[in-house]
Amino acid sequence: MKAPCRSTVVPALLGTAFLGLSAPAFAQGGGPPDVPVVTVRGQTYTPRSILSRNMGTEADQTTAFPPHKVIGNIYYVGVRTLSSFLITTPAGHILLNSTYERNVRTIEQSVTQLGFKFADIKILVGTHAHGDHQEGDALVKELTGAQVMAMREDVPALEGIKPGGKAHPIDRVLRDGEEVTLGGTTLVAHLTPGHTRGCTTWTMSAQEGGKTFNVVFACSYRSPDKVAPEVAAEFNRTFKMLRSLPCDVPLGDHPAQYNLAAKYGRLSPGGSNPFVDPANCWVEAEIQEAMFRATLDLQQKAQRP
Ligand SMILES: [Zn+2]
Repeated sequence: MKAPCRSTVVPALLGTAFLGLSAPAFAQGGGPPDVPVVTVRGQTYTPRSILSRNMGTEADQTTAFPPHKVIGNIYYVGVRTLSSFLITTPAGHILLNSTYERNVRTIEQSVTQLGFKFADIKILVGTHAHGDHQEGDALVKELTGAQVMAMREDVPALEGIKPGGKAHPIDRVLRDGEEVTLGGTTLVAHLTPGHTRGCTTWTMSAQEGGKTFNVVFACSYRSPDKVAPEVAAEFNRTFKMLRSLPCDVPLGDHPAQYNLAAKYGRLSPGGSNPFVDPANCWVEAEIQEAMFRATLDLQQKAQRP
């Protein structure tokens, strides 16, 4: 089973530092140091605290978060720490992120619970070619017949994700800026590489209460522990480009990236929509950029004679 997003998690630290506040800078018991340490908007983060925040426990990766409407025709149907979004249209639905294959039936139940039909999913897209976000693509296609669309630069990595030996389905290859349209809804695929070569940030507009909102489904922007020069160049372009996207509603492929739990707690009938949060659109990018730059610094210092 491929799960690069958590490949470096130290199990003993899982759950000890959900917001990174108490993460030790140095591992207990002789593991590699948990550096760099960065502080963004008063919160301190380390590589392990971010992984822990993103992935949670094994149960968090397989237990449904209560399915709910986010805004307009966008619904959350994922598990506690791996996002999956259903975008409904009169011509069928789009699913963004299948997550692990073992979660597909859980996602199906969440879709059903919201009153929609899983079989009506016509298009499946994803944020990036790691198993925790796109391992379930083949099963979703098998169950729904959906067309699977992927960013060109992520195709080789996606083809390597083959649960049970099943080939990874890819029906349409997308390029940066291409649109995916179904039943009056248009998603735009933005190439935001770094975390993977084809990491894709998706944007769309959603209507609610007579207003139009710019929604951003962020990819993961987490830097690897060792940054190759071509990956550094990709991140530099990505972090600059992101801020040019219009954004009212920040979402992400791990719920902690947009503070889902707290926002969900603020949902109330007739109240303002907590997912409309333009002030915090780029907090996650800020955290990851700070971590990326600090990682590069450490790397450069280590390489100096
Ligand atoms: Zn990942």
